[in-house]
Amino acid sequence: MYPGRAYPHVMKKYLRLLALAAFALCLFAGRLEASGLLSPKDLPPEARLDLAVLRAAYPDVVSGMAHGADGRLALVLADGERLVYDDGKVRTPEEAETNPDIRTMLAQVYPLGPADAASSRPAKDFDPGRRRVQAFFTALYGHSEAEVRRDCENVRFDGHGALFSKRHGAAAALSRVGERLAALRPAHPEWRKVLRPFGGTLSWRVIAGTQRLSMHSFGIALDLDPRLPYWRTERHPETIPARVQAFPAEIVAAFEAEGFIWGGKWAAFDLMHFEYRPELVLKAKALRGEIRLGE
Ligand SMILES: [Zn+2]
Repeated sequence: MYPGRAYPHVMKKYLRLLALAAFALCLFAGRLEASGLLSPKDLPPEARLDLAVLRAAYPDVVSGMAHGADGRLALVLADGERLVYDDGKVRTPEEAETNPDIRTMLAQVYPLGPADAASSRPAKDFDPGRRRVQAFFTALYGHSEAEVRRDCENVRFDGHGALFSKRHGAAAALSRVGERLAALRPAHPEWRKVLRPFGGTLSWRVIAGTQRLSMHSFGIALDLDPRLPYWRTERHPETIPARVQAFPAEIVAAFEAEGFIWGGKWAAFDLMHFEYRPELVLKAKALRGEIRLGE
């Protein structure tokens, strides 16, 4: 081969590579377009953070966000189901509880850490975690009692067997809470007052006074002593801040460290109740700058 032919030959090779690269790029862009998923960097900051915490907590279920037909943002699940992220409605506190969108579900930031004078007196309707999109939890844990039960396992917790969902790390997290408490328990005989009798975990039921499924239905909530104060039945709500502050802080810390929230921090208080909500714990930590979430 003489030198005059070498140049076009090399050119041809590069052109072919270029064409291949362009073709691959088109395929990739086409796939993105087909899925409709938006790049996180194109989302408003609140939606970007909410998507990051949901993906970190439930990577197998949460795919991303996309625009719905109405142009509003929707959360896209791995099976293609779409849940409205932000429908733009202004809600009363009651509507936020009965019919939230995903944004409303995550908007109130759970106050991690020991209950102090301020956090034991939550503002009216400050119930971080009580606003729940039921379709999200059925997608996560099961659409029927039978489906939920199929994926539950018996976790040892303070000497009891506690049925908890194996999905999304819930049962493993509860098992670690149990280990944390078992290590501390010998030094705290007084904990018996809140730990016994054990209220239980899995129970397919609606929340009292509502049509909405309790988180106990999904095997991701646990009740300690059922005699602990509950907002619907408490006769002396003025005593609650002191009782919240007197509740063993190490028990709350053990649960929060494993992705659980405590109903003692709600205006609609429920001191026996702990619930596996890693997305809320992650969001609280991210907003405090304690963790950084990848996108
Ligand atoms: Zn409960």
